[in-house]
Amino acid sequence: MQAMVLNRLGGPLVWSDLADRQPGPNQIRVKVAACGVCRTDLHVVDGELAHPAVPIIPGHEIVGRIDAIGAGVEGLRLQQRVGVPWLGHTCGTCQYCRSHHENLCDDPLFTGYTRDGGFATATIVDARFAFPLSETGSDEALAPLLCAGLIGWRSLVIAGDGKRLGLYGFGAAAHILAQVAVWQGRAVFAFTRPGDTTSQAFARNLGAIWAGGSDEMPPEALDAAIIFAPVGDLVPAALKTVRKGGRVVCAGIHMSDIPGFPYNLLWEERQLVSVANLTRQDGIDFLGLAPQIGIITTTRRYPLRQANEALADLRVGRFEGAAVLVP
Ligand SMILES: [Zn+2]
Ligand SMILES: [Zn+2]
Repeated sequence: MQAMVLNRLGGPLVWSDLADRQPGPNQIRVKVAACGVCRTDLHVVDGELAHPAVPIIPGHEIVGRIDAIGAGVEGLRLQQRVGVPWLGHTCGTCQYCRSHHENLCDDPLFTGYTRDGGFATATIVDARFAFPLSETGSDEALAPLLCAGLIGWRSLVIAGDGKRLGLYGFGAAAHILAQVAVWQGRAVFAFTRPGDTTSQAFARNLGAIWAGGSDEMPPEALDAAIIFAPVGDLVPAALKTVRKGGRVVCAGIHMSDIPGFPYNLLWEERQLVSVANLTRQDGIDFLGLAPQIGIITTTRRYPLRQANEALADLRVGRFEGAAVLVP
């Protein structure tokens, strides 16, 4: 197999020939057809997350086909198309696993972070954490659903059912989530980097009724706002836009420091929460709904060997939608 390997924090990823791996008990091997590039991959490469484990193969938005099955795996077959998300393994016994909060498991493994991921031609997966996919939709189009879509979905559920929804950072997650929210009958307000009129036009094309810079106020108070950009300054900015009792959801795994802000931004029962990881139920719910919603992902395709270019382009916001690596 070949892979783009992170040998030291800070990168770059290095094209590597590796010995083929065999699935152990309860594992499958997936021949990767497409793997999305997520902002979390940047945080992994930059060494911004706790517990870095290098060398590691990043990538946790994997679509591929099963080409080997280990002992004890049930309900999956060779050549079946599957999606592999960020949550790669849970202990099954901690208080969180036992209470339907496996996203908070005390002893988890995360794909492309603490176990090898999908910036590769093949990957070994805990079979219980692979989602069977139908044959509808291209591999490349589906890949961003596995994290941008899934974490976006969890964030949307936690944001509550308010009609007026703000999205800060109109990248891979927001471009999927805007379609979900519009389908649900919500009004979407998109906030981009100030002056980024291209992303604002992109947001309006996807159904946002308003789009502006993150330094602007929306025309009406919002019921909830979700922050996808890893920018702590957006927390007080978003709190300013939500009504009394409104909620601000931080959806990223990492954020720059949140500056101090006056208590009156939080006062009147405004809520500030974060979303961490996903549960398998989130995947079942969202991937089941996605075909009904008719989500259309905007993707920029890169050959696997150009993973570093894809990461660099993501860092500076050089494309709309999501980058996808194809072996
Ligand atoms: Zn656990
Ligand atoms: Zn991700």
